[in-house]
Amino acid sequence: MLLDGKAVAMRLREEIRTEVETLRPALGRAPGLTVILAGGEPASRVYVRNKRLACQDAGFNSELVELPPSAAQRDLERLIDKLNGLDEVDGILLQLPLYPGLDSQALLERLDPSKDVDGFHPQNMGRLALGLPGPRPCTPAGVMALLKHYGLSPSGQRAVVVGRSNIVGKPLALMLGANSLEANATVTLCHSQTPDLREECRRADFLFLALGRPKAVSADMVKDNAVVVDIGLNRTEQGLTGDCDFEAIRPKTTAITPVPGGVGPMTVTMLLRNTLEACKRRNKL
Ligand code: NAP
Repeated sequence: MLLDGKAVAMRLREEIRTEVETLRPALGRAPGLTVILAGGEPASRVYVRNKRLACQDAGFNSELVELPPSAAQRDLERLIDKLNGLDEVDGILLQLPLYPGLDSQALLERLDPSKDVDGFHPQNMGRLALGLPGPRPCTPAGVMALLKHYGLSPSGQRAVVVGRSNIVGKPLALMLGANSLEANATVTLCHSQTPDLREECRRADFLFLALGRPKAVSADMVKDNAVVVDIGLNRTEQGLTGDCDFEAIRPKTTAITPVPGGVGPMTVTMLLRNTLEACKRRNKL
């Protein structure tokens, strides 16, 4: 089975659009997301554009604040303080990476946690670790929503996550291991210092790849009938690829995500969902 993230994302976005229309009269405005772009990475510009288009499509108000490379930490702090105080701004997204010399962690911590639609604020990561409600990081939330849509439950299964970044691998491991019907997996979190990655991967009923290394995982590293979720996005001469050798691995799996068209569209959809939830919570709707 091919896990068609694009199709699932479109369906969820339609539901979000309908909910936005229903809420608008009570709210008196559209839910609002402000994106801060203060970095020179060409891919960031593409991501920001896609996020804003998805917002507009769903009936949100989306603003972009772009800062030049000369922007100082103080400029970003002032901007975040201002956005924290604006009622019509429900969500603030700080697009990473920032220009060199800027301290992204300090700025993420300055966001009002109730407007942190990426779920990266320590307070929201803490809520995730404790199993309390709150905005969840978009990429792992998108992975969980994709599994749920296809009725693929990791409950009671052995899950292996490769990659331990704060934005993907670590929160995904927490979500999979949560004490809830949709999770309840037994989780192993691998990284570059894992002694035998092959053996760890081969034990996985559910294998999640977030290394950022094209074809790092080959067919002999995957158990028969595993579910493989490839989160990697690598720009290669052959185009955009994931972290696994898709063609070789696919016949062995019960289900697998394509790249592109797997987790990527789900990530943007979870950003919309987090913004809508932030708007509802802040306005007691
Ligand atoms: P990252 O911050 O670079 O983290 C990569 C992780 O992989 C690190 O924990 C690293 O280990 C581990 N790693 C690297 N090489 C390894 C190896 N040979 N064996 C085992 N572990 C290894 O990356 P990220 O931000 O999490 O992103 C990961 C990938 O997901 C990238 O391709 C990115 O583009 C993609 N991504 C996709 C989406 C989406 O929406 N689809 C969203 C975000 C990211 P150490 O901790 O030991 O260094």
